[in-house]
Amino acid sequence: MKTETQTLSQRDRKHLWHPLTQHKLAGDMLAIVRAKGALLYDESGKEYVDGISSWYTAVYGHCNEFITSKVAAQMQQLDQVVFSGFTHEPAIALSEALIQILPSNQEKLFFSDNGSTATEVGIKMALQYHHNLGNDRKVLLAFEEGFHGDTFGAMSVSGLSVYNGAFEDHFLKVLRLPIPAGENNADVLLKLRNLIAEHQIAGFIFEPMVQGAAGMKMYNAEGLNDLLKLCRENHIITIADEVMTGFGKTGKNFASEFLEVQPDIICMSKALTAGLLPMAVTSCSRKIYDAFYSEELSKGLFHGHTYTANPLACTAALAGIELLTSAEMQGHIERNIASHQIFAGQLKRHPKVKNMRQLGVILAFELDVEMERYGNLRNRLFAHFMKEGVFLRPLGNTIYISAPYITSDDQLQKIYTSIEKALEKF
Ligand SMILES: *Cc1c(COP(=O)(O)O)cnc(C)c1O
Repeated sequence: MKTETQTLSQRDRKHLWHPLTQHKLAGDMLAIVRAKGALLYDESGKEYVDGISSWYTAVYGHCNEFITSKVAAQMQQLDQVVFSGFTHEPAIALSEALIQILPSNQEKLFFSDNGSTATEVGIKMALQYHHNLGNDRKVLLAFEEGFHGDTFGAMSVSGLSVYNGAFEDHFLKVLRLPIPAGENNADVLLKLRNLIAEHQIAGFIFEPMVQGAAGMKMYNAEGLNDLLKLCRENHIITIADEVMTGFGKTGKNFASEFLEVQPDIICMSKALTAGLLPMAVTSCSRKIYDAFYSEELSKGLFHGHTYTANPLACTAALAGIELLTSAEMQGHIERNIASHQIFAGQLKRHPKVKNMRQLGVILAFELDVEMERYGNLRNRLFAHFMKEGVFLRPLGNTIYISAPYITSDDQLQKIYTSIEKALEKF
């Protein structure tokens, strides 16, 4: 093997198949060799500010020593054990810590491996809840442009996408609602009333407050609250997909805290393990758990992944929560929020900036330029930011920031400057 003369990007091409990539159209993958705090370093030594926390995971900074040292110590103690019939301290301690910060109605935690399985479990909980109670409810409800993951249940409840065309015949039955944006709240509520009258709806899954993959679409808390209230009155199980919004990004630990009606089920992943290891949790209220608690074996939730509640991932998650709830990290979150507010205030009157919005450390706007004029605008924007040493990943013409909380003022400024340059260039 002639590996020494080849770059990592070159070696990558031979055997690797990357996610969300049409390899015939895509160029080489950028090889990242090191990360620290808010920075990523590629194989040529160039550094990038990680403006999206590596898909909203590394919110306390990459290779955070507080977290890595705890996980390293756990590695010497217990690496992995079956979680069916067995338990361990990291999972127990994590459950105690997580329940402390979750909305007060949440009581039980079910582990899986990623955001898609977290929502998959949430969907199964809602469907089997009604099945166990003998209710004939087999339809799910979701927002039109939501994103809940790439497994079959998760794809089914996600908004229809050209990428999922091959699978649509195999989807679960899902009804869709537009998001309540304020002015249409009454219409959406009426639409839900009509759907309830016509269908046997088991559960409603939604991304509270912000739809991430749809382009950081922020919507109306009051409108959502009214929908959740109507669901509750009609015995529809509500599932908050907090995979993206969880753990401080909205300025609160969970976006559900903006709502009066607490969801029956909450899905968590991404920042749960602070960017260190893959893991997910689906939490639920007593009401859900009790519908499975029975002398009949078949009423249990027979879902289980091999690495359920992996002790290392639990340790990372526990350390992450310790950081999140510290005064220091809350200070960083507030600093980020204030910094974004100033930048947004300066930028929102710019003629090319449309729909500037912010919730917590998430800042987003649309670049109002003729898309055709710039060919593939999204790819050109991405290339611009990377050249500037800033990792932002625009969604269409939506530019958004969701940087690690520990991103320094100088690093935030570097992100802002790269955006200002983009406004000049495009
Ligand atoms: C990323 C995401 C998922 C899927 O999580 P994966 O870990 O990528 O499977 C589900 N829901 C939301 C809201 C997400 O942002």
